[in-house]
Amino acid sequence: MRKPATPNRRPANRSGREADPRRTIPLNSAAWQRLRASVLADEPLCRDCSNRGLIEPATDVDHHDGDPSNNDMDNLVGLCHSCHSRKTARDHGARVGYGCNAHGMPMDPAHPWNRR
Ligand SMILES: [Zn+2]
Repeated sequence: MRKPATPNRRPANRSGREADPRRTIPLNSAAWQRLRASVLADEPLCRDCSNRGLIEPATDVDHHDGDPSNNDMDNLVGLCHSCHSRKTARDHGARVGYGCNAHGMPMDPAHPWNRR
C-alpha cells in the first residue's frame, strides 16, 4: 500500500530577520501585514529622519527596543529603509557611521547634539 501524500510540514528555511526565534509574528503573515499597515498609517514619516529635520516616507516598521516579540504599538516605529538598516546593524553590534549633513550636524539620531 502506498503511503498517502503528506504536505511538507517542515518550517520554511528562515533567514535574516525571520531567523530570530523571539519573533512571534512571521513577516509574511497577514497579521504582520495588518500591524505594519497600522503603524505606517499612524507614522507615515521616518521618525529618525524627522528628528533630523528631514522628510522621508516610512517604509519599514522597527521594534524600537530590538525585541521582535514586543509588538506593542508603543514599541513599533515607522522608519525609512535606510534608517531601519542602520539601526538593525547597530542593534546587532555593527559600528555604523552616519556622517554629517550639509550644515555639519551629525546624522546619528543618538548623537548628543540630536537629543532633545
Ligand atoms: Zn529615515
